[in-house]
Amino acid sequence: MGTTPLKTGNALLSSFGTTIFETMSRLAAQHGAVNLGQGFPEGLEPPDVIERLAETARTGPHQYPSMMGTPALREAVARHERTYWGLPVEASSHVMVTSGATEALAACFLGLVEPGDEVVVIEPLYDSYLPIIRRAGGIPRIVRLSPPHWTLPRAEMEAAFGPKTKLLMLNSPTNPAGKVYGPDDLAFLAAMLERWDALAVCDEVYEHLVYDGQRHIPLMTLPGMAERCVKIGSAGKIFSLTGWKVGWVVAAPALLHPVIKAHQYLTFTTPPALQDAVAWGLDTQRAYIEGLAGVLEKRRDRLAEGLKAVGFEVMPTAGSYFLSADFRPLWAGGDDQAFCRHLTEQAKVTAIPVSAFYGADPPGHLARFCFAKTDAAIDMALERLGRFFGGRGGGPR
Ligand code: PMP
Ligand code: GLN
Repeated sequence: MGTTPLKTGNALLSSFGTTIFETMSRLAAQHGAVNLGQGFPEGLEPPDVIERLAETARTGPHQYPSMMGTPALREAVARHERTYWGLPVEASSHVMVTSGATEALAACFLGLVEPGDEVVVIEPLYDSYLPIIRRAGGIPRIVRLSPPHWTLPRAEMEAAFGPKTKLLMLNSPTNPAGKVYGPDDLAFLAAMLERWDALAVCDEVYEHLVYDGQRHIPLMTLPGMAERCVKIGSAGKIFSLTGWKVGWVVAAPALLHPVIKAHQYLTFTTPPALQDAVAWGLDTQRAYIEGLAGVLEKRRDRLAEGLKAVGFEVMPTAGSYFLSADFRPLWAGGDDQAFCRHLTEQAKVTAIPVSAFYGADPPGHLARFCFAKTDAAIDMALERLGRFFGGRGGGPR
């Protein structure tokens, strides 16, 4: 062994810790905590879709499918987009299958962003956006939404756009805030894209998980937006099978092409048996797809009411798997990272610190809880929290 120090990894990526989801799920397992942290559903997996996978696993195919996705899944995604959102999507020219939405996001940033391009992002944001935007050489221009209503600050948005803007990263419904962008905000954002000749990456993985009679509206459906938007979907969220990691990108051919170039060197393709089961599910499980929001809305209300009874201040949430709660009425022992650790270790309930969804200077008083869990898990978590805080287990207030 020489004395020269070993060369190390990429400085930007090496500067990040392990993702908060992995960290908190590990901690939950270590302490036997009810895991309301990482966003995966429980007790909602559709048995028929799983059975279809079992059949295809026996019969195949099992070799590399086209890098664009299997014809059956591309057709099923195109039908899905036409049926639910009225988008004139053609399977052979507008759809590419990816290994989950996470890969789709990375392919979009790597394929569309030139070093020095500015990317407008909205905080709080999903944790994979900033690292990959920066790794692609993009310069994030961050606009912040504030709790409890997470209203879009238009003047700040206008100030964030400019001649160097390449992309807007828009997530709706949002993780973690559960905000669903309405027609006025979307029209405003569409006008910004046109004014600055910018594109949008639209992370719509929670497109079917919208509550209280609200409606999801893809930005892509607004006039002039079909040529500017890349729309990302996830079978993991549609079928409550997050480990399957099957996603897709829908875009006009000219926009899809650079994304294809990134995808072909990232994962190239996605397991064909999974693609087959997802295609079959999209075509046959409409009742499941359309019924899921009703089931989750009840779970949201169950958890929200219970957390309020314990003493949390619960923020409204109109979509996604998540609600955020202000824990300051119960605890004054530190920030949200300290709180979520304390809660896992002492109360045996896990949540995610909302500061993980910010680039810098995050608020430190909110915890994100996932309500896509069984009633039994929600009730057990609430009982533990009630006992813990009722017994002043939270320490000083
Ligand atoms: N975007 C958002 C907003 C998410 O919450 C998630 C959660 N997993 C993803 C993307 C990634 O989806 P997938 O599991 O399909 O990669
Ligand atoms: N999207 C999930 C969440 O927000 C987690 C995905 C992951 O673990 N990377 O909890």
